[in-house]
Amino acid sequence: MSGLVADHCSRCGLVKRPGDIFYLARIILTCDFDGELAELKAEEASAGMSAEMAKASARSEEELMNEVYQELYFYLCKGCRDRFVKRAF
Ligand SMILES: [Zn+2]
Repeated sequence: MSGLVADHCSRCGLVKRPGDIFYLARIILTCDFDGELAELKAEEASAGMSAEMAKASARSEEELMNEVYQELYFYLCKGCRDRFVKRAF
């Protein structure tokens, strides 16, 4: 966990002073693929696969992995923590 904690709030920029209570928010985003593939005719599937492979090869490995699994960290002051809990979205 070391290295993840900052000296200021990720949201509002409030600088942490000694004794202030801050919070570390860890958000995990995972792909929720249901295992179903849309039905396509053979030609459409072939063309679709070629297009998807071309798109995928244009992006970095990190970008592709982030679409499957990504962890985000935010260091929050008390006020921003409270606002996040009440209304994350
Ligand atoms: Zn804040």
